[in-house]
Amino acid sequence: MAIYLRGAGSSPGVALGRAVRYLPENHAWHTVDADIDAAMARFMAAQAMAASQLRTLADLLREEGRIEEARIFDTHALLVEDETLAQDVERRMREGHISLEQALIAAIGSLREAIEAIDDPYLRERSSDVDSVRRAILTALHGETRRIHDLPIGAILVANDLTPAEAVSLRDGRVAGFATAEGGPTSHTTILARAFGIPAVVGLGAATLAVPDGAPLVLDGHTGLLIVDPDAFEWSSYERRASGTIIARIRRQPLRDQPGRLASGEPVTIWANINHPLEARAALEQGAEGIGLFRTEFLFLGRSAPPDENEQYEAYRTVVEMMEGRPVIIRTLDIGGDKRADYLDLPHELNPSLGIRGLRLAMRRPDLFRTQVRAMLRAAVHGDLRILLPMVTTPDEVTWAREQIRSAAESLAQEDIPHRADVPVGVMIETPAAAITADLLAREAAFFSIGTNDLAQYALAADRTSADVSARYPQNSAAVLRLIAQTVGAAARAHLQVCVCGEIASAPDVAPLLVGLGVVQLSMNPMSIPMIKERLSETSITQARSAARTVLGFYV
Ligand code: PEP
Ligand code: MG
Repeated sequence: MAIYLRGAGSSPGVALGRAVRYLPENHAWHTVDADIDAAMARFMAAQAMAASQLRTLADLLREEGRIEEARIFDTHALLVEDETLAQDVERRMREGHISLEQALIAAIGSLREAIEAIDDPYLRERSSDVDSVRRAILTALHGETRRIHDLPIGAILVANDLTPAEAVSLRDGRVAGFATAEGGPTSHTTILARAFGIPAVVGLGAATLAVPDGAPLVLDGHTGLLIVDPDAFEWSSYERRASGTIIARIRRQPLRDQPGRLASGEPVTIWANINHPLEARAALEQGAEGIGLFRTEFLFLGRSAPPDENEQYEAYRTVVEMMEGRPVIIRTLDIGGDKRADYLDLPHELNPSLGIRGLRLAMRRPDLFRTQVRAMLRAAVHGDLRILLPMVTTPDEVTWAREQIRSAAESLAQEDIPHRADVPVGVMIETPAAAITADLLAREAAFFSIGTNDLAQYALAADRTSADVSARYPQNSAAVLRLIAQTVGAAARAHLQVCVCGEIASAPDVAPLLVGLGVVQLSMNPMSIPMIKERLSETSITQARSAARTVLGFYV
């Protein structure tokens, strides 16, 4: 009978294959070392070898332009060669009369426990970095027991956890995907899997370790599901989905290098939405013409204090540099609503989506806003960076934000810090108030970006996090489309560019309709880009306009 396991995080894609258990630490490492000095000499040599292997990997990634990924391995290299680790291992061997390997596992185990005891989900997820250190040193001491490169082609890897280095070595497409007992949505391994397009489900729990070698598996990275021993019907329906996806991917390959365009020739700019600097690479690989929305919340969530100016500057600069002159639209912090950060001490609200979120939080905490904006103005020196303001309701909020940005630029100038003062500042149209007064906002904005996820939630009075109501009130309801049309009209009169960056931009049946309404920029998750480019290349402007007219009647 089939067993269904649900994960805590995933990387999209469907994989079917046989399970291959990857449990590289099954050695009997219990022989106590008689000569502790000799064992420590071996240990230190292994530390040096592991650190140098990690640095080689970092250099390789840097050469490929994968700067953020490279940094992960630089950090691991530093942890691997930490002197206090060697001292701790030696003490445990002498006092506990245990083997070198046992001492290392115990030392790393207590370090991990100490990290996990910290009341901070971000740090807790980083505890897997410590495991990577243990694995790297053990590998240097003994070599891998089952080398990841020797795994059978097309298998699905099943492991307790994978280190980021192991995730990187899977990018050659040898395995169909991986499933792990540990890990979360923001752990480095998961982020890397997404960046490299490897289907994966992580955080499946201890039951994963009972999956026998060779068991047939279906891994659905879209929904975070692992099916062990699926029945014949499930297997063949997932098989159809997987092969349909592969065929479509091959068919769409040539579109990646071409700009978005309708069948009748009109250009439609296709940008990517990203949540983390690492995703910029995936955006380029999928054919994004720029970053239409960088949600910066990821940098602020799951930690005990906000990132400082330099950390933010590095993150923004990484994306801007990776995009090599293409536009990068970075949104200022949109915490509040369904995204919380404990250290911000936000008031308890009965309706948080209608409370302190987005720009409202910035007005309450101008210090956070100023730090972020300074980092953005500095990163803007390296390319085409534009600032986007979330959750705008009234024009005076935009006036306030622009004044803060002007004063941040002034402070950078006074401190002689390289920056750009002329960065375009755009407004998200995601409240009905903003859409209805788009003509007034246009006087304050350099461009508009329509956030249909929130615009629909507020216009239709349907909580976007509620599966019950959101299905009943779809985002392409006439009310939402009319607000979009009204915004597009106001933008056209003010000669402003307008993009749609909510999820409907990646809905194949809705994207042409948005173009019919006059939207010529769409921003979406990177994996949807080839599909939408293809859909648009099959639609003429006449068809797009007629679809829009049908929905709106009098507006177009
Ligand atoms: C939106 O509201 O449509 C949007 C793009 O922003 P977010 O989903 O981050 O709220
Ligand atoms: Mg929004």
